[in-house]
Amino acid sequence: MLLPAGLSRVDEEQWVRRMLDRLAAKEQRRRPSDTELLERAMELSVRYLDGKARPASVRWVDNQQHRWGSCTPDHGTIRISTRLRGMPAWVVDYVIMHELVHLLVPSHGPRFWELVDHYPRAERARGFLEGFSMAMACQMETNAE
Ligand SMILES: [Zn+2]
Repeated sequence: MLLPAGLSRVDEEQWVRRMLDRLAAKEQRRRPSDTELLERAMELSVRYLDGKARPASVRWVDNQQHRWGSCTPDHGTIRISTRLRGMPAWVVDYVIMHELVHLLVPSHGPRFWELVDHYPRAERARGFLEGFSMAMACQMETNAE
């Protein structure tokens, strides 16, 4: 951190604290909470899936190193990898959308992709994520958590 010259020790501590607070606020904006994720999911469902996908919960998880999202259709639960935090909102939306569609269509068949592509930037988001990682974008969990 770059500090202005000529600060006293106390001024310096206040400066650092203020900068850290500001940084934390910025991070908070870039990292929506679980509640915001669920609200986002409901919006996407209403806009692109006639509100048919109705998740019970959508939350961040940090134990998914090889996939962006996962879901358990039996429970209506969706998990989004914290690796997506800080990525553009339209990319996070795509992953949410992908998992929402799994609540309606479990497999990655033609009907699945047809619904996912209701999201206008689906193709672009897939390209973005592929650029980030060759890992599988999604894995379904059909068993209970
Ligand atoms: Zn999938």
